[in-house]
Amino acid sequence: MKATKYFNFNNTEVAFSYLSDKELQNAYQIFKGMSYASLVSIGSKATLLALKLHLPIKSILKNTVYKHFCGGETIPEVKSVVEKLSTYGINVILNYGVEGKHTEEEFEKTAKSLHKTLEYAVHNENINTISCKPSGLIEHDLLQKLTSGEELNEAEKIRFEKGKTRLRNLVKAASEKKINLHLDAEETWIQGAIDDLAFELSAEFNKEFPTVINGVQLYIKDKLDFLKTSLEHAKKHNYIPAVKLVRGAYLEKERARALEMGYPSPICETLEETHNNYNAGLKYCVENIDTFHLSNATHNEYSCEYLAQLMEENNLPANHPRIVSSQLKGMSDNITFSMAKAGYNVQKYIPYGPVKQVIPYLIRRAQENTSVEGQTTRELELIKKEIKRRKNL
Ligand SMILES: Cc1cc2nc3c(=O)[nH]c(=O)nc-3n(C[C@H](O)[C@H](O)[C@H](O)COP(=O)(O)OP(=O)(O)OC[C@H]3O[C@@H](n4cnc5c(N)ncnc54)[C@H](O)[C@@H]3O)c2cc1C
Repeated sequence: MKATKYFNFNNTEVAFSYLSDKELQNAYQIFKGMSYASLVSIGSKATLLALKLHLPIKSILKNTVYKHFCGGETIPEVKSVVEKLSTYGINVILNYGVEGKHTEEEFEKTAKSLHKTLEYAVHNENINTISCKPSGLIEHDLLQKLTSGEELNEAEKIRFEKGKTRLRNLVKAASEKKINLHLDAEETWIQGAIDDLAFELSAEFNKEFPTVINGVQLYIKDKLDFLKTSLEHAKKHNYIPAVKLVRGAYLEKERARALEMGYPSPICETLEETHNNYNAGLKYCVENIDTFHLSNATHNEYSCEYLAQLMEENNLPANHPRIVSSQLKGMSDNITFSMAKAGYNVQKYIPYGPVKQVIPYLIRRAQENTSVEGQTTRELELIKKEIKRRKNL
């Protein structure tokens, strides 16, 4: 999609104005590398192996892929990125990007870091949202048991309550400070329990401010019904239903598990079906915006264009306080900066944390940019165009 009625996604001068020539070259090398699926596959395995063997690859990663997709290892390092984005009217979703933790001690450590992230957001007006993976605070196995309808035994109930308290304390603190909290959507086999928690915590903490923003993956067949249920639940319990619409990041994992265990895959059969579902989700939320708070989290140009069209049809201003669009750092700057320039509310999702700990996130980005048809090509073409434009100045 190029210049359209609402945005010019092809204006690379706008898209990359915040990147220096050096940063643009770095972006070019990264997307060029990611356009080779085999390189991504080998690179991901080699990185994991090198880390295991304690080989000194940290500085290589930090100055290349990490620098492109992450904000920094510590909060002070993130500061300059946040400040730069704020000059373009772009807010930040700050994410402590550490994943894959399993022990009580690790969950407590993650909770502590999330509270620190929240405190930082409170003191920085451009960070209005923080995000958290519920499975980073509550045991995966317990979420899975609850999602499948199994009863927890007494010991498990105690461990679950501990995890729930960690999440509730974070939501409570976010609510007191009026910071939005994204609950990331995860795999379907744990999402049922996460949705239950989201409903319960929203009913308690979303009365006047949309503190809890629940992730909803529209690559799942029945998620439109879920949006309807979310609205009904909120009306019944008198709170603001806040949702972050995404297509979904676990497609291969979901399909593989369904195949292995012999149940029908919950994922839409085709990409087109996913697109239709997502756009229908946008329509449903915009048409009910007197109740909903909507976060449009996508790199899809058409969906952003369609959102602008829906807002116009429903007589909503570009900067409607309950509608915001967001993209990940290092991806689709052409969307983020064009939408910001046109006066829409936009955010960049910025993960931060120790290089080593953010590797799973980086590998997902590399794989996503390789497997999503057209995305790497689009980024690469735009970067090349901007390099050429700057050379001819
Ligand atoms: C700010 C932000 C927050 C996010 N938070 C989450 C989160 O909490 N949980 C989460 O799971 N993801 C999250 N994501 C990632 C998101 O789910 C997508 O993986 C990613 O954004 C790509 O989808 P898209 O809408 O940007 O782009 P597009 O390129 O338009 O769509 C690609 C997506 O379509 C789907 N798809 C691809 N092929 C098929 C097929 N054959 N059949 C059916 N569907 C297909 C997949 O979901 C794929 O990721 C987030 C993304 C952003 C920008």
